[in-house]
Amino acid sequence: SWGSLSDKNVYDWSSEEEEPDGRARPVQVLLVKDDHTFELDEAALSRILLAEEVRDREVVAISVAGAFRKGKSFLMDFMLRYMYNHASEGWLGEADEPLTGFSWRGGSERETTGIQIWSEVFLVDKPDGKKVAVLLMDTQGTFDSQSTLRDSATVFALSTMISSMQVYNISQNVQEDDLQHLQLFTEYGRLAMEETFLKPFQSMIFLVRDWSFPYEFPYGQEGGMKFLEKRLKISENQHEELQNVRKHIHSCFTNISCFLMPHPGLKVATNPHFDGRIIEIDGEFINNLKVLVPWLLSPRNIDVKEINGSEITCRGLLEYFKAYIKIYQG
Ligand code: GDP
Ligand code: MG
Repeated sequence: SWGSLSDKNVYDWSSEEEEPDGRARPVQVLLVKDDHTFELDEAALSRILLAEEVRDREVVAISVAGAFRKGKSFLMDFMLRYMYNHASEGWLGEADEPLTGFSWRGGSERETTGIQIWSEVFLVDKPDGKKVAVLLMDTQGTFDSQSTLRDSATVFALSTMISSMQVYNISQNVQEDDLQHLQLFTEYGRLAMEETFLKPFQSMIFLVRDWSFPYEFPYGQEGGMKFLEKRLKISENQHEELQNVRKHIHSCFTNISCFLMPHPGLKVATNPHFDGRIIEIDGEFINNLKVLVPWLLSPRNIDVKEINGSEITCRGLLEYFKAYIKIYQG
C-alpha cells in the first residue's frame, strides 16, 4: 500500500548540479545566516512541493526539532528506511547495512541552523483509502546564547507551524528549560498566526533520548505519557511561572505525547568509525526503535496538516511557508 517516488522520474530538476545522480537527499530550504537573517530557498522548496505527483495531495509534514548533536538525523535515517521499505515487516533492514540519508555524526564541521527537507515526498495510502504525501523535515537550532536563541525560536516556530507533527528531540530528561524554550518558540509561532478558537498546532511529541530511569518510567510511549503527565501537571502550590509554562503548552497543541528512548550504546555515542549498522546498536534501542518509528509514521497514525481546521495540500503548504517566513523577515 506504500508508494514511493524513488524510481519514477517525477522531479523536473532545473539544475543538474543540484541533483547530479537523481538520488534523493536533504535539501536546505531555510538557512539562518551569520548576520541572523533568514534565507528561504523558494526554488528548491517549490521543486519538492510542486512536483506533479504530490502538489495536489494532502500533506503530512513530520518535523524533528531540537539542539545539535542529539541524534536527530540518526533517527530520521531510520524513518527514511521505514518509508523506503514501505512500512514492511523487515523495514529495519540488514544487520550490517550502513545507515544513510540525512547526514549524521558530529565531527567538528560547522553546523547550520535551519530546516532541511528530504527531497523525496512519499505517497502513502491511508487505511481510509486516501492517498497522502508525506514530507520529512530535519530542523536544527543552537539554543545556547541570546542571539542564537532567537534564531532557534524562529526555526522551531516555523517548523511547528508548517508540520502536522513536531517531534521535540531532547536529551536525557524533560528539564524546565526545555519547557521554557518550547513556550518561547510556540509563542513566537502563535503571534505570527491568525487567531482562531482552534489550538494553533497539531501534534507535539516529546522524544527523550538516553532515558536512564526505566525502573521509574518504562521506555516507550506509555511510560512516556505517565512521565510527561507528571512533568506537565499543573498544581495550585506551583510557582505561577511554572503553571503558566504548562498552561501555555497545553493550549498550543491538539495532541501531546512522549516517548522514552534508551541509550543506543557506546559505539553509537562515541566511536567515530561507527556507520550506523544495527549490529552495533544496543538491542534495547533497536527494540524501541521498532515501536517508535511505526508509531510515528504508520499509514494509520499519520495525520494530514490542518491550518484553521482545513486540510492542506503540498501546494497550500508552500504558500503558507512563504507567508510565514515573510512575517519573520519583517
Ligand atoms: P543531530 O545533530 O541532532 O542531527 O545529531 P546526529 O544524528 O548527527 O548524531 C550526533 C551524534 O550522536 C552521532 O555521533 C550519533 O552516532 C550519536 N547518537 C545518535 N543517536 C543517539 C542517541 O540516542 N544517544 C546518544 N547518546 N548518541 C546518539
Ligand atoms: Mg542533524
